[in-house]
This record gives sequence, structure tokens and C-alpha cells, in this order.
Amino acid sequence: MSQLRERRARLVTQFDTHKIEAALISGLPNIRYLAGFTGSNAQLLITRDSATLFTDPRYTVQAGEESDCRVRIVKRSLLPGVIGAIGRRQIRRLGIEPGRMSVETLALLEKDTKKLTFTALPPLVEQLRMLKSPEEIEAIRASVRTNSKAYAKALTRIKPTSSENDIAAEIEYWQRRYGASGVAFASIVAAGARSALPHAQPTSEPVGTGRLLLIDIGALQLGYCSDMTRVVHLGTPGTKAKKLYRAVLESQLAAIDAVKPGITAGQVDRVARKVLERHGLLKQFVHSTGHGLGLEIHEMPRLGRNDKTRLQAGMAITIEPGAYVEGFGGVRIEDTVLVTDHGCEILTPTPKELVVV
Ligand code: ZN
Ligand code: ZN
Repeated sequence: MSQLRERRARLVTQFDTHKIEAALISGLPNIRYLAGFTGSNAQLLITRDSATLFTDPRYTVQAGEESDCRVRIVKRSLLPGVIGAIGRRQIRRLGIEPGRMSVETLALLEKDTKKLTFTALPPLVEQLRMLKSPEEIEAIRASVRTNSKAYAKALTRIKPTSSENDIAAEIEYWQRRYGASGVAFASIVAAGARSALPHAQPTSEPVGTGRLLLIDIGALQLGYCSDMTRVVHLGTPGTKAKKLYRAVLESQLAAIDAVKPGITAGQVDRVARKVLERHGLLKQFVHSTGHGLGLEIHEMPRLGRNDKTRLQAGMAITIEPGAYVEGFGGVRIEDTVLVTDHGCEILTPTPKELVVV
């Protein structure tokens, strides 16, 4: 069985549990995962014995090339096509993706399909996507390599007069030159006090000297994301910056050490948090320890305090504790790692000692 068919078959095995006869998949990354289609407008109807991809005339050729599903080209809104197929197949109970379908789409579906019962499904496809196939792991590896190469190249060109925007542009240029199709998310480059904003947007101010510089970047390659954060020091670091950096690095290494099959995502988060607590930085750690990644930059599991997902070999996750000191700066250190049979493999090759530029 082809990979796509196998994935759809795995979804169909859950139809009984959720008492549905068909599932309407609306999330584009989920459609890509189940049907191979990479276009920007689609719905995918899966029954026990069929899979129909609905898209618009812009994608007639592409859909036929990429997908092994039956392709229906619908002009304007895709919904009349979907509703027609649901009627023809006499589907009574339809599973939908509440996190992916718009309220407008649901309202239109309800209006035109009087006899249909809707079931809001848990994130079934997202759960399947947590475990990566060997092909997916290869794509993530390629994306990670490209990201690290672009970072290394850009690092050699940073000057006190460079702006955060200049550095982001340089990194993104090299990501593409080294094989990425684009960025996995908007690059974060933040100098000095701005590095204490975990998701700062780059500005056109020069980065200057005598301060921290945080860089959080990801490449998109073969459809897959990478994610890495490094913090360098502009000029010679003082004691405060060095201490902050060492604490976060200790936390990150401890969390990576904890990653193995069977441990819960929440337990890994607690390991990272405990180290920072010992350094008096618990309150400065304002986000979770990491997240799954793949076709999307944020996937399941979330490595947060209460996540009970047990890690399994084949999951690709990030480990990224951070500490942010308002008015001074922040440190986050992030690698992409793969859960293996006995522990984990750190995919990110970029060194982690504090670099002075
Ligand atoms: Zn990141
Ligand atoms: Zn991340």
C-alpha cells in the first residue's frame, strides 16, 4: 500500500469509535498528509472506501499529479461540490475538524445538508502526524541542515551596524540558497533588551555592541520545518549575560537528557523548569519547553506542564527552554531532536557554547 493510502486507512480505522461514516478534512497540512496535495484551497472527503479531493481550476494539473485521490474540480466555492458528494453517498454522520473548519463553512454545510449529523472530531490526523515516517525524518534532517548552514553563513557577517532586519534577510537568503523553499516561520532576530521579548519582530535599528542577540529561525524544505534558536553576544559578555546563558544551557541539556520513549511531554517540561528554578529563573521562563514539528512549525505534542502525551520513537520535537529578564535581555536555546528507541538524537548540528561576535 502506498504511504498516502496507508495513512488514510489508519484514519478510517477510527471511524467506528467516533460513530461516523465519513470525515471531511479541512486543514491543508492534514490534506497534504493524507492526499499528497500541496495547493492552497481544498477539502478532502474520506469514506470507508473512497477519498475525494475537492479543489479549484487553478490546481487541475497539480492535483492530478500530486494526489492519488479522486479529484473533483469545483468552480468558486468548494462546498456545493462537497455537499453533492455527501448526498450522493448518502452519508448521514460526518466527522469534521473543529480546529480547522471555519464557522462560515460549517454554517453553509448545515444549511444545505438537513439530514446530516456532524461530529466534531478530536485532532485525529494531527495525532497520526506525531509519528514521522523515515521519509519525513529525512526531510526534517534536510531542513535542519539547511537552517544551520544558513545560520553559520550569516553569523560571519554580523557587524554592530547591522540591523536585526539585515541579519534576518541574510539568513533567509542563505536558507533558500542552501535548498529551502522558504522560511518555516517569520525569523526572530532581537538584540539587547528586545531579546527579552520571546517573539520579537526584527527592527531596522543597528544591533550595536555589549549585549545579547537572540536568533530563532526555521527553514521549510521538502514541505518540512526546522526550528533552532541560538543566542550570541555582541562584544565581550559580562557576568550577568554569562550566568543567564549557562543556566538556560544547563536546563536545555537536562531536558534533552530526559527525552526517551515512554516519558511524558509534561515530564520533560518539568525537568527543564526545575533547573531554571534552581537558578532563580523560574518566573523568567514564560513558555513551554518545546513542541512537535513537521509539516507545520507547531505540532503535537506540546511539551508543556500538563501534556500527558507519552513520547515515542519517531517523534520530532524541539527542546527550547528560555529565560527573559525585562530590560536586560533573554536567552533561549533550541534544538530540533528526534525521539529514538533508547533516547533521542539531536538533529541540530550548530554548537551551543556562547559565541562572541
Ligand atoms: Zn524556534
Ligand atoms: Zn520552537
